[in-house]
Amino acid sequence: MIIEMNADRARLNRLRQELAQHSHRYYVLGDPTVSDGAYDRLFGELLELEAAHPDWVTPDSPSQRVGAPVSDGLPTVTHEVPMLSLDNAGSETEIRAFDQRVRKFLETEDEITYTAEPKYDGIAVELRYEARTFTVGSTRGDGKTGEDVTHNLRTIGAIPLRLPNHAPELLEVRGEVFMPLEAFNAMNQLRLKNEEEPFANPRNSTAGTLRQLDPNVSAARPLDIFIYGVGRGETELGADSQVDLLQKLADLGFKTNTRFLRSKGIDGIIEFHQALENERNDLAYEADGSVVKVDSFALRERLGQLNRSPRWAIAYKFAPQQETTVVQDIRTYVGRTGTLTPVAVLEPVHIGGVTVVHASLHNQDEVERLDVRVGDTVFVERAGDVIPKVVKVVRKKRPKRTHAFKLPKTCPICATKAERIEGEVAVRCPNFACPAQIKERLRHFASRDALDIDGLGEKIIDQLVERGRVTRPSEIFALRSETLIELERMGAKSAEKLIAAIAKARDTSLNRFLYGLGIRHVGQRVAEILAREYQSVGNLLNADPVGLEATEEIGPTIAAALRAFFDDPKTLKEVRALTSELTLTAPPPRPPPDMSSPIAGRIFVLTGTLSVARNTVKERIENQGGKVTGSISKKTDYLVAGANPGSKRDKAETLGIQILDEEALETLLNGT
Ligand code: NAD
Repeated sequence: MIIEMNADRARLNRLRQELAQHSHRYYVLGDPTVSDGAYDRLFGELLELEAAHPDWVTPDSPSQRVGAPVSDGLPTVTHEVPMLSLDNAGSETEIRAFDQRVRKFLETEDEITYTAEPKYDGIAVELRYEARTFTVGSTRGDGKTGEDVTHNLRTIGAIPLRLPNHAPELLEVRGEVFMPLEAFNAMNQLRLKNEEEPFANPRNSTAGTLRQLDPNVSAARPLDIFIYGVGRGETELGADSQVDLLQKLADLGFKTNTRFLRSKGIDGIIEFHQALENERNDLAYEADGSVVKVDSFALRERLGQLNRSPRWAIAYKFAPQQETTVVQDIRTYVGRTGTLTPVAVLEPVHIGGVTVVHASLHNQDEVERLDVRVGDTVFVERAGDVIPKVVKVVRKKRPKRTHAFKLPKTCPICATKAERIEGEVAVRCPNFACPAQIKERLRHFASRDALDIDGLGEKIIDQLVERGRVTRPSEIFALRSETLIELERMGAKSAEKLIAAIAKARDTSLNRFLYGLGIRHVGQRVAEILAREYQSVGNLLNADPVGLEATEEIGPTIAAALRAFFDDPKTLKEVRALTSELTLTAPPPRPPPDMSSPIAGRIFVLTGTLSVARNTVKERIENQGGKVTGSISKKTDYLVAGANPGSKRDKAETLGIQILDEEALETLLNGT
């Protein structure tokens, strides 16, 4: 028992030390060495140990503190009403437990009305207005003392410098400063061009920008803000709930987010959270969860607060998209078109419910930019369906004697001298007969979105190529079951099944075929456009280059890739061999657009969940001479908004663009 207690005590001390170091690196230096998930796990362990030994809790424990003490350099500001942190929930079970805790504390069986807002992954600030004039702006710091960043906050266009006459005499509003993703990406591109180190994420760039001593630098980096709370002046403002508060703040000219939900009971909140998580990678700003708050201020008053967080609110976090792990090896992978890609082999790591073991390093320039080496600890990010990528190396954890990685000068598979692709950073193996390229070409050709040959997977293709049985897709159709039976783990029955699947694939669509050829830049969408426009392989081969380039959504890069593919005698021969094996069905040609329709020439943007497939809506608009584009600009005429429309709607509202629901679109299309 005593031994166990000593071990707990030692662990507790170590955890406190580690967490304090991580906080300093995260809040003060803006250069963390562990992922947020890893930090949250350590924090959870600390809370558990402290719950088991309440008498060991000290006021300086990270569990009792907000953020980290501010660093030297900037003047400090005292928060008269402390700026708190939030307790965390990482799952539906935990958010339901929060709801239970609230109801138990309030001794009620009734459902509570909550609000949910996005949890912006930025920097919390407080803006003080005296006599309706913006006087002081500060960071949260350790909750009681923050840094004076007034000079930089003044450069943010969304912060009003004066408030209308009905505003309270003294008002302190709170919100999150962030860098919109578009601006963040543009800024990093520029930094790369100027050979400056890019920021790892928008949060770090926001922190760095806010702490700039020269406001001209901040003015050049577009920051934005959402306001969601109030410090002093709440009573004078007269709001009685979160939704009322957001409305009153908006009335005073503050930028509040229209994306929030008020819901009776926790179920609606969970739905909002899930919808937001699905859309996470399409938002214009980075969010790492939702913040759930008891709506009524009277109930909040009764619930009160703990040391570092209120009892009436919680951060409901999304599954983390970043983790840290170790690079075990860097290998060179040869793709379908021969491009040599460096790939990091990772110590397996769980990110968002998936075990990640590989991350693409793209090309030599990227390897050099990251300076990633075998043995390095790295941050790996997996956002949605996007291929995992290494975002940052933790230099502090680099072991001794590491070597910079260089892509080989020859193809690692067939030893042919690699060539640089003109106008690109990538290098490629020019050998069309390189076994790695053959395998990749076959894999792509047989894949689900191409010819969908059931049973012709990676292992079988590898064996067929290694035994010299197949060197190009057209040879798949000459395979016989006697050949297949020779392969490892292939019985007579599965051989027959595969032969039948190959026979079935002979009848396919022109779209799938064009996609399956694996032409550079020709994905499913482009294949579909080409199939619809040209109706047959023959027409496409004879297409006039000018017409091809002018085809909507094709353009010069794709047209050049098509030309390069069809002008090469080897690939042309293969296309001819394939067309003699296959029966290809073309999609119905697009009817000429009705230019007399009222929407002819008008530009539409679609957003949110529509009740029919987006492509169908797009087609109907295009058939009447309208145009559908991906992003809102001043040129957009209409935004068609389905359920959960997200940030595009906000942007359309700001630009005064007409917003249509599905019904209104229907009326417009029917000309009634
Ligand atoms: P937090 O960021 O998890 O949540 C509290 C903050 O959320 C508030 O202070 C506020 O600024 C913000 N917020 C965003 N949107 C909001 C909204 N709509 N309404 C109200 N508040 C909103 O808490 P924290 O204490 O700032 O940071 C703790 C987290 O930081 C940890 O969970 C961890 O993920 C991360 N962290 C990581 C490291 C590391 O080394 N990787 C170190 C320290 C902290």
